[in-house]
Amino acid sequence: MSVDNVVIVGAGQAGFQVAASLRQAGFEGSVTIIGDENNIPYQRPPLSKAYLKNLADETSIQLRPDNFYADNRIELIKGDKVERIDRQSKTVVTESGITLQYDKLAITTGTRPRPLDLQGADLPGVHALRSFLHAADLRDDIQKHQNIVIVGGGFIGLEVAACAAGLGKTVTVLEYAPRLMGRAVSTVSSDFFKAYHESIGVRIITDARIERIEGVDRAQGVSLQSGDQIPCDLILVGVGALPNVELAELAGLDCDNGILVDEFAVTSDPHIVSAGDCTNHPNAFANGRFRLESVQNAIDQAKVAAASILGTASAYNAAPWFWSDQGEIKLQTVGLPLGTDELVVRGSTEEKKFSVFHYREGKLIAVESINSAGDHMVARKLITTGSSPAPASVSDSTVELKSLLAG
Ligand SMILES: Cc1cc2nc3c(=O)[nH]c(=O)nc-3n(C[C@H](O)[C@H](O)[C@H](O)COP(=O)(O)OP(=O)(O)OC[C@H]3O[C@@H](n4cnc5c(N)ncnc54)[C@H](O)[C@@H]3O)c2cc1C
Repeated sequence: MSVDNVVIVGAGQAGFQVAASLRQAGFEGSVTIIGDENNIPYQRPPLSKAYLKNLADETSIQLRPDNFYADNRIELIKGDKVERIDRQSKTVVTESGITLQYDKLAITTGTRPRPLDLQGADLPGVHALRSFLHAADLRDDIQKHQNIVIVGGGFIGLEVAACAAGLGKTVTVLEYAPRLMGRAVSTVSSDFFKAYHESIGVRIITDARIERIEGVDRAQGVSLQSGDQIPCDLILVGVGALPNVELAELAGLDCDNGILVDEFAVTSDPHIVSAGDCTNHPNAFANGRFRLESVQNAIDQAKVAAASILGTASAYNAAPWFWSDQGEIKLQTVGLPLGTDELVVRGSTEEKKFSVFHYREGKLIAVESINSAGDHMVARKLITTGSSPAPASVSDSTVELKSLLAG
């Protein structure tokens, strides 16, 4: 069956990329993106970095300028939410009542912030951070207030902590687990980042058990089960994200911690692909299914989804990589640190320039690099090609990392 009509639900990183890749591949049919935000598709990473520090604005974070969409005959419907997919008639219906027919549908609905299920979590002054609107509210509020509590010592919480500390704010991070970014990085990096944040004035409390958020008209503090009280006038909750799967579930697509897709980004309906944060996909680097939340995955999987629509896809097998900027520290990771049984450090934590290599049963599975972009680029090649240099040569900084690349 020929494909004349592609509809994309969700105008974020992956939705934009599906549309752009279709046009790059010479697809001549109609392409419509429907997004529930009012913005031209934009990058989210600056929302917890440059944007908060007033070093970026709404226009500078756009993925492409406004005219890109008309120039490429991509119809962009903003500020409208898709409420229903009818797989029988191959149509989608939006909140405003628009009905669109598709030959192929792409679902790229992303995630939303995981809410905090605690008394006081709905008070004014308690923020989440996912969208441009969230970031604009947060930035305004940070400018007006001094004492900030961040619930969650993951990437977003720590990036905001570093920005706020840089703006002279009093910042406390409350992390439930015993260490920062515990699911994503090694103990070496967790300890390093804790010391770094403390050095720029951020107070870090790990193993924190929050009893409730205090306040009447606005959040005024956090009570911990330990009895400690932390007064504040602004709280950012950064405790993870939930995949936006409800639309897919309602349409009867298979979902399990994300929309289930195969290695070609195809859902349980062959006419519907899905890509980005909302998918749960087979990932060779995870030895099974995985849901990734990263720009890399959104872009690479969207390219596969677009190729699937055109019938030209090869399997998705990109090595996962990610970055996080926290103050003057750039963290870059590649691979997935699942089941690490040996850690090897190269470089110097004192000099704030090092990489941590994760091995599992002698195989290199992930590398995190701190202020070491050169190491990261080599590590990407090592992980992508499945190379496992001997730990002794990796830790020896007189051995050039590049020389350990096979071939
Ligand atoms: C503050 C922040 C900082 C980040 N920093 C980094 C970083 O440093 N490095 C990195 O690799 N990644 C980072 N990420 C993650 C990265 O931005 C995401 O992985 C990426 O945006 C995923 O793209 P996506 O298209 O899957 O989802 P999104 O970009 O979230 O797009 C999904 C879109 O679909 C819309 N939508 C949902 N349901 C519907 C519906 N029914 N109808 C219409 N529209 C709908 C949503 O509103 C949204 O606009 C960060 C994320 C945030 C929030």
